[in-house]
Amino acid sequence: MSKAYDIPKKLYLNNSWVAGTGAAFTLRNPKDDSVIATDLNEASAADIDKAVEYASAAFKTGKWSKLTGAERGKCLNKLADLIDENVDRIAYLESIASGRPISFVKTEIPMVSAVYRYYAGWADKIRGDSFPPDDGFYKIVSHEPLGVCTGITAWNGSLHFLAWKSAPALACGNTSIIKPSEKSPLGTLAVAGLIEAAGFPPGAFQIVLGGGATGAILSSHLGIAKISFTGSISTGRKIQEAATKSNLKRVTLELGGKSPAVVFDDADFEAALFWSILGITVNSGQVCAASSRIYVQDTIMESFMGRLKAAFDGIASTLGADPQDPQTQFGPLIDAVQHEKVTGYINAGLNSGTATLLTAPQPKPKTGYYVAPTIFVDPLEDSQIYREEIFGPVLCARSFRTEEDALRMANDSEYGLAGSVFTKDLGRALRMSRGIEAGTVCINCALMVGPQVPMGGVKSSGLGRELGEYALRHYTEPKTIWIK
Ligand code: NAD
Repeated sequence: MSKAYDIPKKLYLNNSWVAGTGAAFTLRNPKDDSVIATDLNEASAADIDKAVEYASAAFKTGKWSKLTGAERGKCLNKLADLIDENVDRIAYLESIASGRPISFVKTEIPMVSAVYRYYAGWADKIRGDSFPPDDGFYKIVSHEPLGVCTGITAWNGSLHFLAWKSAPALACGNTSIIKPSEKSPLGTLAVAGLIEAAGFPPGAFQIVLGGGATGAILSSHLGIAKISFTGSISTGRKIQEAATKSNLKRVTLELGGKSPAVVFDDADFEAALFWSILGITVNSGQVCAASSRIYVQDTIMESFMGRLKAAFDGIASTLGADPQDPQTQFGPLIDAVQHEKVTGYINAGLNSGTATLLTAPQPKPKTGYYVAPTIFVDPLEDSQIYREEIFGPVLCARSFRTEEDALRMANDSEYGLAGSVFTKDLGRALRMSRGIEAGTVCINCALMVGPQVPMGGVKSSGLGRELGEYALRHYTEPKTIWIK
Protein backbone atom coordinates (compact mmCIF):
# COMPACT_ATOMS: atom_id res chain seq x y z
CA MET A 1 0.00 0.00 0.00
CA SER A 2 1.18 3.51 -0.81
CA LYS A 3 1.97 6.04 1.85
CA ALA A 4 -0.82 8.61 2.42
CA TYR A 5 -0.05 12.34 2.12
CA ASP A 6 -1.76 15.49 3.42
CA ILE A 7 -4.48 16.78 1.13
CA PRO A 8 -3.83 20.23 -0.40
CA LYS A 9 -7.09 22.20 -0.47
CA LYS A 10 -6.33 25.79 -1.38
CA LEU A 11 -5.81 27.91 -4.47
CA TYR A 12 -2.21 28.74 -5.36
CA LEU A 13 -2.17 32.50 -6.04
CA ASN A 14 0.87 34.79 -6.31
CA ASN A 15 3.08 32.05 -4.79
CA SER A 16 0.84 31.67 -1.71
CA TRP A 17 -1.84 29.21 -0.65
CA VAL A 18 -5.18 30.99 -0.31
CA ALA A 19 -8.56 29.48 0.57
CA GLY A 20 -11.11 29.85 -2.22
CA THR A 21 -14.10 32.01 -1.36
CA GLY A 22 -16.56 30.27 -3.70
CA ALA A 23 -18.81 27.28 -2.99
CA ALA A 24 -17.42 24.33 -1.03
CA PHE A 25 -17.04 21.02 -2.81
CA THR A 26 -16.32 17.45 -1.81
CA LEU A 27 -13.82 14.98 -3.21
CA ARG A 28 -14.47 11.26 -3.09
CA ASN A 29 -12.36 8.21 -3.85
CA PRO A 30 -14.11 6.30 -6.66
CA LYS A 31 -12.78 2.94 -5.46
CA ASP A 32 -15.33 2.94 -2.61
CA ASP A 33 -17.00 6.39 -2.70
CA SER A 34 -15.26 7.31 0.58
CA VAL A 35 -14.89 11.04 1.31
CA ILE A 36 -11.37 12.43 0.80
CA ALA A 37 -12.21 16.00 1.83
CA THR A 38 -15.28 18.19 2.19
CA ASP A 39 -13.58 21.51 2.77
CA LEU A 40 -12.24 22.57 -0.60
CA ASN A 41 -13.62 25.82 -1.97
CA GLU A 42 -14.00 26.91 -5.55
CA ALA A 43 -12.43 30.14 -6.74
CA SER A 44 -15.11 32.86 -6.77
CA ALA A 45 -15.25 35.66 -9.34
CA ALA A 46 -13.32 37.83 -6.87
CA ASP A 47 -10.61 35.14 -6.52
CA ILE A 48 -10.28 34.91 -10.31
CA ASP A 49 -10.04 38.71 -10.53
CA LYS A 50 -7.17 38.56 -8.05
CA ALA A 51 -5.43 35.76 -9.95
CA VAL A 52 -5.71 37.74 -13.19
CA GLU A 53 -4.48 40.91 -11.47
CA TYR A 54 -1.40 39.07 -10.12
CA ALA A 55 -0.76 37.38 -13.48
CA SER A 56 -1.13 40.62 -15.36
CA ALA A 57 1.26 42.46 -13.02
CA ALA A 58 3.79 39.61 -13.32
CA PHE A 59 3.52 39.76 -17.11
CA LYS A 60 3.74 43.55 -17.49
CA THR A 61 6.03 44.84 -14.77
CA GLY A 62 6.86 42.07 -12.29
CA LYS A 63 10.02 40.00 -11.92
CA TRP A 64 8.73 37.48 -14.45
CA SER A 65 8.56 40.15 -17.18
CA LYS A 66 12.24 40.89 -16.66
CA LEU A 67 13.56 37.33 -16.91
CA THR A 68 15.50 36.33 -19.99
CA GLY A 69 14.37 33.35 -22.02
CA ALA A 70 17.23 31.34 -20.54
CA GLU A 71 16.07 32.24 -17.02
CA ARG A 72 12.51 31.18 -17.83
CA GLY A 73 13.93 27.93 -19.16
CA LYS A 74 15.78 27.44 -15.88
CA CYS A 75 12.49 27.69 -13.93
CA LEU A 76 10.84 25.15 -16.26
CA ASN A 77 13.80 22.77 -15.97
CA LYS A 78 13.85 23.08 -12.18
CA LEU A 79 10.10 22.39 -12.03
CA ALA A 80 10.68 19.24 -14.13
CA ASP A 81 13.36 18.09 -11.66
CA LEU A 82 11.12 18.75 -8.68
CA ILE A 83 8.25 16.85 -10.31
CA ASP A 84 10.57 13.86 -10.77
CA GLU A 85 11.72 14.10 -7.16
CA ASN A 86 8.14 14.17 -5.87
CA VAL A 87 6.71 11.32 -7.93
CA ASP A 88 5.30 9.41 -4.95
CA ARG A 89 3.35 12.35 -3.52
CA ILE A 90 2.08 13.57 -6.88
CA ALA A 91 1.04 10.06 -7.94
CA TYR A 92 -0.77 9.38 -4.67
CA LEU A 93 -2.70 12.66 -4.79
CA GLU A 94 -3.52 12.24 -8.48
CA SER A 95 -4.73 8.69 -7.87
CA ILE A 96 -7.02 9.09 -4.88
CA ALA A 97 -9.67 11.32 -6.42
CA SER A 98 -9.41 10.05 -10.00
CA GLY A 99 -9.27 6.31 -9.22
CA ARG A 100 -6.46 6.00 -11.74
CA PRO A 101 -4.00 3.34 -10.53
CA ILE A 102 -0.86 4.71 -8.90
CA SER A 103 1.16 2.30 -11.06
CA PHE A 104 -0.22 4.02 -14.17
CA VAL A 105 0.10 7.59 -12.90
CA LYS A 106 3.74 6.89 -12.07
CA THR A 107 4.39 5.98 -15.70
CA GLU A 108 2.94 9.31 -16.88
CA ILE A 109 4.80 11.62 -14.47
CA PRO A 110 8.13 11.34 -16.39
CA MET A 111 6.14 12.31 -19.51
CA VAL A 112 4.91 15.39 -17.66
CA SER A 113 8.39 16.49 -16.59
CA ALA A 114 9.60 15.79 -20.15
CA VAL A 115 7.13 18.37 -21.46
CA TYR A 116 8.46 21.02 -19.05
CA ARG A 117 12.03 20.18 -20.14
CA TYR A 118 11.10 20.28 -23.81
CA TYR A 119 9.66 23.79 -23.50
CA ALA A 120 12.52 24.87 -21.23
CA GLY A 121 14.67 24.28 -24.28
CA TRP A 122 12.45 26.56 -26.37
CA ALA A 123 12.35 29.46 -23.89
CA ASP A 124 15.49 31.14 -25.27
CA LYS A 125 14.80 30.21 -28.90
CA ILE A 126 11.62 32.18 -29.56
CA ARG A 127 12.69 34.28 -32.48
CA GLY A 128 11.19 36.36 -35.26
CA ASP A 129 11.92 37.30 -38.81
CA SER A 130 13.29 40.19 -40.78
CA PHE A 131 12.96 41.31 -44.41
CA PRO A 132 15.37 43.48 -46.41
CA PRO A 133 14.57 47.13 -47.22
CA ASP A 134 14.19 46.42 -50.96
CA ASP A 135 11.14 48.69 -50.95
CA GLY A 136 12.83 51.32 -48.81
CA PHE A 137 11.52 49.90 -45.54
CA TYR A 138 13.19 47.43 -43.24
CA LYS A 139 10.67 44.96 -41.77
CA ILE A 140 10.98 43.07 -38.47
CA VAL A 141 8.46 40.48 -37.29
CA SER A 142 8.73 39.69 -33.60
CA HIS A 143 6.77 36.99 -31.81
CA GLU A 144 5.22 38.61 -28.77
CA PRO A 145 3.76 36.75 -25.79
CA LEU A 146 0.02 37.23 -25.37
CA GLY A 147 -0.27 38.04 -21.67
CA VAL A 148 -2.37 36.10 -19.18
CA CYS A 149 -3.13 32.60 -20.48
CA THR A 150 -5.44 30.10 -18.86
CA GLY A 151 -5.91 26.36 -19.13
CA ILE A 152 -9.00 24.36 -18.13
CA THR A 153 -8.38 20.63 -17.87
CA ALA A 154 -10.26 17.32 -17.76
CA TRP A 155 -9.87 14.77 -14.97
CA ASN A 156 -8.57 11.86 -17.02
CA GLY A 157 -5.02 13.12 -17.55
CA SER A 158 -4.81 16.27 -15.43
CA LEU A 159 -1.03 16.21 -15.09
CA HIS A 160 -0.45 15.90 -18.83
CA PHE A 161 -2.85 18.73 -19.55
CA LEU A 162 -1.29 20.89 -16.84
CA ALA A 163 2.08 20.60 -18.59
CA TRP A 164 0.71 20.86 -22.15
CA LYS A 165 -0.99 24.17 -21.32
CA SER A 166 1.38 25.85 -18.86
CA ALA A 167 4.80 24.89 -20.28
CA PRO A 168 4.52 26.49 -23.76
CA ALA A 169 2.71 29.53 -22.32
CA LEU A 170 5.48 30.13 -19.77
CA ALA A 171 8.29 29.36 -22.22
CA CYS A 172 7.01 32.20 -24.44
CA GLY A 173 6.94 34.64 -21.51
CA ASN A 174 3.21 34.58 -20.79
CA THR A 175 1.76 33.98 -17.35
CA SER A 176 -0.38 30.93 -16.72
CA ILE A 177 -3.47 30.20 -14.62
CA ILE A 178 -4.63 26.57 -14.65
CA LYS A 179 -7.96 25.23 -13.44
CA PRO A 180 -7.94 21.46 -13.07
CA SER A 181 -11.18 19.48 -13.11
CA GLU A 182 -13.09 19.76 -9.86
CA LYS A 183 -13.30 15.95 -9.92
CA SER A 184 -9.55 15.41 -9.56
CA PRO A 185 -7.53 18.54 -8.73
CA LEU A 186 -5.08 17.08 -6.19
CA GLY A 187 -2.19 16.02 -8.46
CA THR A 188 -2.23 19.51 -9.99
CA LEU A 189 -2.16 21.04 -6.49
CA ALA A 190 0.82 18.80 -5.64
CA VAL A 191 2.68 20.36 -8.58
CA ALA A 192 1.52 23.85 -7.49
CA GLY A 193 3.46 23.30 -4.27
CA LEU A 194 6.69 23.13 -6.33
CA ILE A 195 6.22 26.37 -8.31
CA GLU A 196 8.00 28.76 -5.93
CA ALA A 197 10.88 26.34 -5.31
CA ALA A 198 11.33 26.08 -9.08
CA GLY A 199 12.06 29.82 -9.11
CA PHE A 200 8.87 31.19 -10.67
CA PRO A 201 8.27 34.71 -9.34
CA PRO A 202 4.84 35.54 -7.84
CA GLY A 203 1.98 35.64 -10.34
CA ALA A 204 3.78 33.78 -13.12
CA PHE A 205 2.12 30.40 -12.59
CA GLN A 206 -1.07 30.00 -10.54
CA ILE A 207 -3.62 27.26 -9.89
CA VAL A 208 -7.30 27.85 -9.17
CA LEU A 209 -9.99 25.37 -8.16
CA GLY A 210 -13.58 24.99 -9.18
CA GLY A 211 -16.04 23.46 -11.60
CA GLY A 212 -18.02 24.74 -14.57
CA ALA A 213 -18.94 28.06 -12.92
CA THR A 214 -15.29 28.91 -12.30
CA GLY A 215 -14.40 27.76 -15.82
CA ALA A 216 -17.08 30.05 -17.22
CA ILE A 217 -15.66 33.02 -15.30
CA LEU A 218 -12.22 32.33 -16.80
CA SER A 219 -13.64 31.89 -20.32
CA SER A 220 -15.34 35.26 -20.31
CA HIS A 221 -12.72 37.20 -18.31
CA LEU A 222 -11.62 40.38 -20.04
CA GLY A 223 -8.11 40.23 -18.57
CA ILE A 224 -7.32 36.82 -20.08
CA ALA A 225 -5.79 36.71 -23.56
CA LYS A 226 -5.85 33.00 -24.29
CA ILE A 227 -7.66 29.88 -23.15
CA SER A 228 -6.69 26.30 -23.82
CA PHE A 229 -9.33 23.74 -22.94
CA THR A 230 -9.35 19.96 -22.68
CA GLY A 231 -12.73 18.36 -22.16
CA SER A 232 -16.02 17.55 -23.79
CA ILE A 233 -17.35 18.97 -27.04
CA SER A 234 -20.35 20.55 -25.33
CA THR A 235 -18.17 22.47 -22.87
CA GLY A 236 -15.74 23.35 -25.66
CA ARG A 237 -18.57 25.03 -27.57
CA LYS A 238 -19.56 27.06 -24.49
CA ILE A 239 -15.97 28.16 -23.95
CA GLN A 240 -15.53 29.24 -27.53
CA GLU A 241 -18.77 31.20 -27.35
CA ALA A 242 -17.79 32.88 -24.07
CA ALA A 243 -14.36 33.70 -25.48
CA THR A 244 -15.92 35.23 -28.58
CA LYS A 245 -18.54 37.21 -26.68
CA SER A 246 -16.06 38.61 -24.15
CA ASN A 247 -12.76 39.77 -25.65
CA LEU A 248 -12.16 37.36 -28.55
CA LYS A 249 -9.50 35.65 -26.47
CA ARG A 250 -7.52 33.04 -28.41
CA VAL A 251 -8.88 29.50 -28.01
CA THR A 252 -7.38 26.04 -28.30
CA LEU A 253 -9.82 23.14 -27.91
CA GLU A 254 -8.83 19.52 -27.23
CA LEU A 255 -12.12 17.66 -27.33
CA GLY A 256 -13.46 14.16 -27.58
CA GLY A 257 -12.88 11.25 -29.91
CA LYS A 258 -14.20 7.94 -31.24
CA SER A 259 -10.95 6.76 -32.71
CA PRO A 260 -10.74 3.85 -35.15
CA ALA A 261 -8.14 1.05 -35.17
CA VAL A 262 -7.90 -0.91 -38.43
CA VAL A 263 -6.33 -4.37 -38.30
CA PHE A 264 -5.33 -5.98 -41.62
CA ASP A 265 -4.74 -9.71 -41.87
CA ASP A 266 -1.04 -9.23 -42.66
CA ALA A 267 -0.44 -7.40 -39.37
CA ASP A 268 1.79 -8.75 -36.62
CA PHE A 269 -1.11 -10.46 -34.85
CA GLU A 270 0.28 -10.33 -31.31
CA ALA A 271 1.41 -6.71 -31.60
CA ALA A 272 -1.96 -5.63 -33.03
CA LEU A 273 -3.65 -7.46 -30.16
CA PHE A 274 -1.43 -5.81 -27.54
CA TRP A 275 -2.12 -2.28 -28.81
CA SER A 276 -5.82 -2.93 -29.38
CA ILE A 277 -6.25 -4.09 -25.79
CA LEU A 278 -4.23 -1.18 -24.44
CA GLY A 279 -6.05 1.26 -26.74
CA ILE A 280 -9.39 0.90 -24.98
CA THR A 281 -8.65 -0.54 -21.54
CA VAL A 282 -5.87 1.73 -20.27
CA ASN A 283 -7.19 4.32 -17.78
CA SER A 284 -10.46 2.34 -17.93
CA GLY A 285 -11.11 3.70 -21.41
CA GLN A 286 -11.19 7.29 -20.11
CA VAL A 287 -8.76 8.45 -22.78
CA CYS A 288 -9.68 11.03 -25.42
CA ALA A 289 -7.76 9.13 -28.12
CA ALA A 290 -8.98 5.66 -26.99
CA SER A 291 -9.32 3.17 -29.87
CA SER A 292 -13.03 2.69 -29.26
CA ARG A 293 -13.91 1.42 -32.75
CA ILE A 294 -12.01 -1.53 -34.17
CA TYR A 295 -12.21 -2.81 -37.75
CA VAL A 296 -10.70 -6.25 -38.33
CA GLN A 297 -10.21 -7.85 -41.74
CA ASP A 298 -12.80 -10.61 -42.19
CA THR A 299 -10.14 -13.33 -42.68
CA ILE A 300 -8.89 -12.92 -39.08
CA MET A 301 -12.01 -11.49 -37.41
CA GLU A 302 -12.91 -14.64 -35.50
CA SER A 303 -9.45 -15.46 -34.20
CA PHE A 304 -8.62 -11.83 -33.37
CA MET A 305 -11.89 -11.16 -31.56
CA GLY A 306 -11.57 -14.46 -29.67
CA ARG A 307 -8.23 -13.34 -28.27
CA LEU A 308 -9.54 -9.84 -27.49
CA LYS A 309 -12.48 -11.35 -25.62
CA ALA A 310 -10.19 -13.56 -23.55
CA ALA A 311 -8.00 -10.57 -22.66
CA PHE A 312 -11.00 -8.38 -21.74
CA ASP A 313 -12.57 -11.11 -19.60
CA GLY A 314 -9.17 -11.55 -17.92
CA ILE A 315 -9.03 -7.83 -17.05
CA ALA A 316 -12.63 -7.96 -15.78
CA SER A 317 -11.63 -10.69 -13.31
CA THR A 318 -9.08 -8.32 -11.69
CA LEU A 319 -11.51 -5.44 -11.20
CA GLY A 320 -12.11 -4.18 -7.69
CA ALA A 321 -8.41 -4.10 -6.83
CA ASP A 322 -7.29 -1.01 -4.92
CA PRO A 323 -5.90 1.64 -7.32
CA GLN A 324 -3.67 2.88 -4.51
CA ASP A 325 -2.00 -0.53 -4.35
CA PRO A 326 1.15 -0.20 -6.50
CA GLN A 327 0.40 -3.58 -8.14
CA THR A 328 -3.07 -2.62 -9.45
CA GLN A 329 -3.36 -2.04 -13.20
CA PHE A 330 -7.05 -1.29 -13.74
CA GLY A 331 -9.10 1.14 -11.68
CA PRO A 332 -12.69 2.37 -11.47
CA LEU A 333 -14.27 5.16 -13.48
CA ILE A 334 -14.01 8.64 -12.00
CA ASP A 335 -17.41 8.90 -10.30
CA ALA A 336 -21.06 7.91 -10.09
CA VAL A 337 -22.01 10.20 -12.99
CA GLN A 338 -19.49 8.64 -15.36
CA HIS A 339 -20.40 5.14 -14.13
CA GLU A 340 -24.05 5.78 -14.86
CA LYS A 341 -23.20 7.21 -18.28
CA VAL A 342 -21.01 4.28 -19.34
CA THR A 343 -23.31 1.57 -17.98
CA GLY A 344 -26.20 3.41 -19.65
CA TYR A 345 -24.43 3.02 -23.01
CA ILE A 346 -23.74 -0.65 -22.29
CA ASN A 347 -27.40 -1.24 -21.47
CA ALA A 348 -28.45 0.64 -24.62
CA GLY A 349 -26.18 -1.70 -26.61
CA LEU A 350 -27.63 -4.75 -24.89
CA ASN A 351 -31.20 -3.59 -25.44
CA SER A 352 -30.66 -2.58 -29.06
CA GLY A 353 -31.26 -6.14 -30.19
CA THR A 354 -28.65 -5.76 -32.91
CA ALA A 355 -25.16 -5.49 -31.42
CA THR A 356 -23.75 -8.75 -30.06
CA LEU A 357 -22.15 -8.63 -26.65
CA LEU A 358 -18.94 -10.60 -26.98
CA THR A 359 -17.54 -10.24 -23.47
CA ALA A 360 -18.95 -11.82 -20.31
CA PRO A 361 -21.88 -9.89 -18.74
CA GLN A 362 -20.89 -7.13 -16.32
CA PRO A 363 -20.15 -8.50 -12.84
CA LYS A 364 -21.88 -6.48 -10.10
CA PRO A 365 -19.11 -4.51 -8.36
CA LYS A 366 -19.11 -4.95 -4.57
CA THR A 367 -18.04 -1.36 -4.19
CA GLY A 368 -16.75 1.49 -6.33
CA TYR A 369 -17.33 2.60 -9.90
CA TYR A 370 -15.69 -0.26 -11.75
CA VAL A 371 -16.84 -1.21 -15.24
CA ALA A 372 -15.60 -4.36 -16.97
CA PRO A 373 -14.11 -3.86 -20.43
CA THR A 374 -16.85 -4.64 -22.91
CA ILE A 375 -16.96 -5.55 -26.60
CA PHE A 376 -19.96 -5.15 -28.89
CA VAL A 377 -19.73 -6.74 -32.33
CA ASP A 378 -21.64 -5.33 -35.31
CA PRO A 379 -23.48 -2.44 -33.66
CA LEU A 380 -25.73 -0.65 -36.16
CA GLU A 381 -23.96 2.20 -37.90
CA ASP A 382 -26.48 4.69 -36.57
CA SER A 383 -26.59 3.33 -33.01
CA GLN A 384 -25.58 5.47 -30.04
CA ILE A 385 -22.84 3.12 -28.85
CA TYR A 386 -21.25 3.20 -32.31
CA ARG A 387 -21.48 6.94 -32.94
CA GLU A 388 -21.02 8.63 -29.57
CA GLU A 389 -17.96 8.92 -27.36
CA ILE A 390 -18.57 6.67 -24.35
CA PHE A 391 -15.37 7.54 -22.43
CA GLY A 392 -15.23 4.14 -20.78
CA PRO A 393 -13.86 0.68 -21.64
CA VAL A 394 -16.39 -0.11 -24.37
CA LEU A 395 -15.21 -1.28 -27.79
CA CYS A 396 -17.34 -1.50 -30.95
CA ALA A 397 -16.04 -4.03 -33.48
CA ARG A 398 -16.87 -4.64 -37.13
CA SER A 399 -15.19 -6.65 -39.84
CA PHE A 400 -14.18 -5.42 -43.29
CA ARG A 401 -13.14 -6.98 -46.58
CA THR A 402 -11.22 -4.28 -48.44
CA GLU A 403 -9.02 -1.32 -47.63
CA GLU A 404 -11.68 1.00 -49.12
CA ASP A 405 -14.34 -0.45 -46.79
CA ALA A 406 -12.08 0.02 -43.81
CA LEU A 407 -11.28 3.62 -44.68
CA ARG A 408 -14.92 4.51 -45.26
CA MET A 409 -15.94 3.10 -41.89
CA ALA A 410 -12.96 4.66 -40.08
CA ASN A 411 -13.93 8.11 -41.37
CA ASP A 412 -17.65 7.73 -40.74
CA SER A 413 -17.59 9.80 -37.56
CA GLU A 414 -17.98 13.41 -36.48
CA TYR A 415 -14.73 12.98 -34.53
CA GLY A 416 -11.17 13.14 -35.84
CA LEU A 417 -8.76 12.95 -32.95
CA ALA A 418 -6.70 9.81 -33.65
CA GLY A 419 -6.56 6.50 -35.50
CA SER A 420 -4.41 3.36 -35.76
CA VAL A 421 -3.50 1.03 -38.61
CA PHE A 422 -1.98 -2.42 -38.20
CA THR A 423 -0.31 -3.92 -41.27
CA LYS A 424 3.14 -4.98 -42.46
CA ASP A 425 2.49 -3.47 -45.90
CA LEU A 426 4.18 -0.08 -45.75
CA GLY A 427 2.40 1.25 -48.83
CA ARG A 428 -0.97 0.40 -47.37
CA ALA A 429 0.01 1.82 -43.98
CA LEU A 430 0.94 5.13 -45.59
CA ARG A 431 -2.19 5.20 -47.78
CA MET A 432 -4.38 4.57 -44.74
CA SER A 433 -2.55 7.10 -42.59
CA ARG A 434 -3.08 9.76 -45.26
CA GLY A 435 -6.73 8.77 -45.68
CA ILE A 436 -7.77 8.65 -42.03
CA GLU A 437 -9.25 11.99 -41.00
CA ALA A 438 -7.52 12.58 -37.69
CA GLY A 439 -4.94 14.77 -36.00
CA THR A 440 -2.77 11.74 -35.19
CA VAL A 441 -2.45 8.38 -36.94
CA CYS A 442 -0.40 5.59 -35.36
CA ILE A 443 0.99 2.81 -37.55
CA ASN A 444 1.40 -0.48 -35.68
CA CYS A 445 0.86 1.26 -32.34
CA ALA A 446 -1.83 3.37 -30.61
CA LEU A 447 -2.36 6.29 -28.21
CA MET A 448 1.04 7.80 -28.93
CA VAL A 449 1.80 11.31 -27.72
CA GLY A 450 5.12 13.05 -27.15
CA PRO A 451 6.51 16.53 -26.47
CA GLN A 452 8.00 17.10 -29.93
CA VAL A 453 4.92 16.46 -32.04
CA PRO A 454 1.55 18.21 -32.15
CA MET A 455 -1.53 16.74 -30.52
CA GLY A 456 -5.05 17.75 -31.43
CA GLY A 457 -8.03 16.95 -33.58
CA VAL A 458 -9.80 17.66 -36.84
CA LYS A 459 -13.58 17.81 -37.37
CA SER A 460 -15.40 18.10 -34.01
CA SER A 461 -12.40 16.85 -32.04
CA GLY A 462 -10.92 20.26 -31.59
CA LEU A 463 -9.20 23.37 -32.71
CA GLY A 464 -5.49 24.17 -32.67
CA ARG A 465 -2.68 21.99 -31.43
CA GLU A 466 -0.84 21.33 -28.23
CA LEU A 467 2.77 20.16 -27.86
CA GLY A 468 5.71 20.52 -30.17
CA GLU A 469 6.81 23.71 -31.86
CA TYR A 470 3.22 24.07 -33.12
CA ALA A 471 1.91 24.96 -29.65
CA LEU A 472 4.29 27.91 -29.46
CA ARG A 473 2.36 29.53 -32.32
CA HIS A 474 -0.71 29.60 -30.09
CA TYR A 475 1.14 31.44 -27.31
CA THR A 476 2.64 34.31 -29.28
CA GLU A 477 1.29 36.79 -31.82
CA PRO A 478 3.44 38.16 -34.61
CA LYS A 479 4.08 41.89 -34.41
CA THR A 480 5.35 43.65 -37.53
CA ILE A 481 7.65 46.63 -37.22
CA TRP A 482 8.39 48.84 -40.26
CA ILE A 483 11.54 50.98 -40.26
CA LYS A 484 12.07 53.81 -42.74
P1 NAD B 1 -16.00 18.49 -19.21
O1 NAD B 1 -16.16 19.26 -20.46
O2 NAD B 1 -17.19 18.14 -18.42
O3 NAD B 1 -15.04 19.27 -18.18
C1 NAD B 1 -13.74 19.64 -18.52
C2 NAD B 1 -13.36 20.89 -17.74
O4 NAD B 1 -14.22 21.95 -18.12
C3 NAD B 1 -13.46 20.77 -16.24
O5 NAD B 1 -12.35 21.42 -15.66
C4 NAD B 1 -14.75 21.51 -15.93
O6 NAD B 1 -14.78 22.06 -14.63
C5 NAD B 1 -14.73 22.60 -16.97
N1 NAD B 1 -16.04 23.16 -17.32
C6 NAD B 1 -17.27 22.58 -17.24
N2 NAD B 1 -18.22 23.44 -17.70
C7 NAD B 1 -17.58 24.57 -18.07
C8 NAD B 1 -18.00 25.81 -18.63
N3 NAD B 1 -19.29 26.06 -18.91
N4 NAD B 1 -17.07 26.74 -18.92
C9 NAD B 1 -15.77 26.51 -18.68
N5 NAD B 1 -15.30 25.36 -18.13
C10 NAD B 1 -16.20 24.40 -17.83
O7 NAD B 1 -15.16 17.23 -19.64
P2 NAD B 1 -14.76 16.02 -18.72
O8 NAD B 1 -15.98 15.20 -18.53
O9 NAD B 1 -14.00 16.49 -17.53
O10 NAD B 1 -13.71 15.27 -19.66
C11 NAD B 1 -14.09 14.30 -20.55
C12 NAD B 1 -14.04 14.84 -21.94
O11 NAD B 1 -12.77 15.40 -22.22
C13 NAD B 1 -14.22 13.74 -22.98
O12 NAD B 1 -15.08 14.19 -24.00
C14 NAD B 1 -12.83 13.55 -23.54
O13 NAD B 1 -12.75 13.02 -24.81
C15 NAD B 1 -12.27 14.92 -23.47
N6 NAD B 1 -10.81 14.89 -23.47
C16 NAD B 1 -10.12 15.34 -24.57
C17 NAD B 1 -8.73 15.27 -24.61
C18 NAD B 1 -7.96 15.77 -25.80
O14 NAD B 1 -6.76 16.01 -25.65
N7 NAD B 1 -8.55 15.92 -26.95
C19 NAD B 1 -8.05 14.74 -23.55
C20 NAD B 1 -8.77 14.28 -22.46
C21 NAD B 1 -10.15 14.38 -22.42
